[in-house]
Amino acid sequence: MERESKYTIRDKEQKRSLQERDKKHLWHPLTQHKIHPEALPVVKAKGALLYGEDGKTYIDGIASWYTAMYGHCNAFIIDKVGKQMKQLDQIVFAGFTHEAAITLSEELIKILPCNQEKVFFSDNGSTANEVGIKMALQYHFNKGEKRNAIIAFEDGFHGDTFGAMSASGLSVYNGPFEDFFIDVKRIPTPNSENIGSIINQLQTIIQKNKVAAFIYEPLVQGANAMHMFEAEYLNQILEICKENKVITIADEVMTGFGKTGSNFASDYINTKPDIISMSKALTAGFVPMAVTSCTQDIYEAFLDDSVGKAFFHAHTYSANPIACSAALAAIELLQTEEIQSSIERIIASHKVFNDQIKDHPRVKTTRQKGVIYALDLDIEMDRYGKKRYEIFNHFMEKGIFLRPLGNTIYILAPYVITKKELDKVYNAIKELLETV
Ligand SMILES: *Cc1c(COP(=O)(O)O)cnc(C)c1O
Repeated sequence: MERESKYTIRDKEQKRSLQERDKKHLWHPLTQHKIHPEALPVVKAKGALLYGEDGKTYIDGIASWYTAMYGHCNAFIIDKVGKQMKQLDQIVFAGFTHEAAITLSEELIKILPCNQEKVFFSDNGSTANEVGIKMALQYHFNKGEKRNAIIAFEDGFHGDTFGAMSASGLSVYNGPFEDFFIDVKRIPTPNSENIGSIINQLQTIIQKNKVAAFIYEPLVQGANAMHMFEAEYLNQILEICKENKVITIADEVMTGFGKTGSNFASDYINTKPDIISMSKALTAGFVPMAVTSCTQDIYEAFLDDSVGKAFFHAHTYSANPIACSAALAAIELLQTEEIQSSIERIIASHKVFNDQIKDHPRVKTTRQKGVIYALDLDIEMDRYGKKRYEIFNHFMEKGIFLRPLGNTIYILAPYVITKKELDKVYNAIKELLETV
């Protein structure tokens, strides 16, 4: 029998569906493959729409994890990225520099809270926080002080690398790693009732430990089912941190770039953070990149005649020119009249929808910050339980991609979603309320 060449095997492979081929070599994130062996292949995306291999279209109700805010395959961004690709693709960012990174630093500083002066590149949200935490630890170290603990909110999420994972309080699935975590003290998210006791807790933690930093998601905790809290209480916490030289790190990976109705959630809070991490919408869903920005004071703590005080952290793709060009195009779009008025339109539209459903017997609570809208169903559910998949499937059958977090349904659609598409999302939620 003649042996099949690799190429004929490949031809055969190509005829099988993507879903079949996927199962052979791929290991997906956040997936228990024994229970959920199938992934839905997406062959194309445009604007707020995803095109499945099954021939159906799906409205991307969460902008592919809050990245593609200006719409998928945005022509303006493609053009800018294409030009950059022909000009300069990649360059070592230690010892070299390039125009896309320089311009991006200038544009970011223009829209970031006014105390931010320096930007440091990495390549995803977790590493942006990793960098922030390491900067804070070394800041104190360089000043001759060893501070080893950090403070974080209960149920916060900061990513999946070790430092970021340690800081994340949503640790149901972190069991195997907990012995290796850095020392993290937790406080609850604030509200009018508990803020007094949080302040006391915070002061005790700071007195009893050597606290280097406080890391927090400002105003909205994405992974914690879009839990929201008030700027005024967060501000009180930040003031205590400042008084005690605890470096404040705002994780704006989810909230950044317009989602709260302002460029950054930190804009709503009087006390500005020392460090801000950002990713996700930074590059509009085109390529992975992240930035950690900081104040002049943080930066200066690393300046010394000794090389040892420098920040020895690098990623091979730091400030990759192509990623920088995507970010530049995205920031340009964010500031256009068109995108700003879309943000206003979505904010107003969510409010109308909220009025229609907030008193429904199946709705427990609702909340909104900017274009982020969430409602809790009045039913008990596991975060990754069977009911959650039923609800997920209800939306998918209606051509809508939403990703329920436990009993929370949230919308964080691309800014370019049309009125018609948004109404379709609302109607599917209304139908769910009648059937769930
Ligand atoms: C998504 C997210 C992260 C992690 O970013 P990755 O790019 O997935 O590593 C960190 N913090 C927040 C608030 C996020 O939403």
